[in-house]
Amino acid sequence: MNKYKEIIKEIKKNNKILILTHIRADGDCVGSSIGLREIIKSTFKDKEVKALYENVHYLSYLGKSDKVTDEDFNDSLIISVDNASLKRCVDERGKNLKRVIKIDHHPNIEPFGYINVVEEEKCACAEMIIDFYKSLKGAKISKLGVEALYTGLVTDSGRFKFPGVTGDTLRKVGMLYDLGLDANKILNTLDETTLKEIRFKGYVLENLEMTENGVVFIKIKGEDRERFEIEFDDASNMVNSLGNIKGSPIWVLFNEYNSDEIRCRVRSIDIPINDTAVKFGGGGHANASGIVVKSWEVVDNILKDLDEKLKNFKND
Ligand code: AMP
Repeated sequence: MNKYKEIIKEIKKNNKILILTHIRADGDCVGSSIGLREIIKSTFKDKEVKALYENVHYLSYLGKSDKVTDEDFNDSLIISVDNASLKRCVDERGKNLKRVIKIDHHPNIEPFGYINVVEEEKCACAEMIIDFYKSLKGAKISKLGVEALYTGLVTDSGRFKFPGVTGDTLRKVGMLYDLGLDANKILNTLDETTLKEIRFKGYVLENLEMTENGVVFIKIKGEDRERFEIEFDDASNMVNSLGNIKGSPIWVLFNEYNSDEIRCRVRSIDIPINDTAVKFGGGGHANASGIVVKSWEVVDNILKDLDEKLKNFKND
């Protein structure tokens, strides 16, 4: 049976549904969870559906996360979206779940879930939620749901630029247009910036560094963000400004969260880098991964590893 049909059967049997995401929210986990909530709520009017995600200000046009109680965790059908590992669940109460459904597009390193739908080839989890919508007879969705799913697709595909985007992805976008999507409004909101961010971007571009073989990186300290009055997430988003430099198909942004937590965002073109991420305790996709490390020493080891990888790639 189509796995989505199995999930639909479960949804029909339960009056309460709770949708969980991963920590350090992005457009796809927030978009997928709201999209799924809106499909279920619009199609089955009698069900109580909650989506739990971290509120990040650049996605505030999608509204705040639902508030979730202990009771909700105990008596809801739980669906985890866009999360490879329960250790990275947005809520402590979700980290040791016994019964959960998984819908995800990351490598299936932890195949949790009594129903497990994992499609690594999909460019965004939101694509999978649209497949769910298409499998549900008589499915309905609100305007918010349409906007959320588009947000997931457009952010995780790098504006439909990353590998994994297919004709099917774009047909799904077409479907969202047919359902009333105002893509221009969302793109303008996502692209909106501030003078502080522009000035900080100038700092990042001025101060980026390069390893011997061409891995581009920037190390952002707490005091840098303070000086430019920049939020942590906005500083992290500067990773996209480091890409596309000729001869440098690997780039990394290191952002110091506190004295023993440095978050790394690794990106690449054509060269898989998720094995390096896994080696240092992180994970992610072939060309977009993340790691959290405890010291700048480890950062230097990550750079060495990536530099070696790039050297081998160039010598091949
Ligand atoms: P990010 O750089 O945060 O956008 O992450 C890129 C990809 O790597 C996303 O698919 C994340 O879910 C995944 N990822 C980020 N950080 C980690 C981590 N510490 N462990 C495992 N996967 C991660």
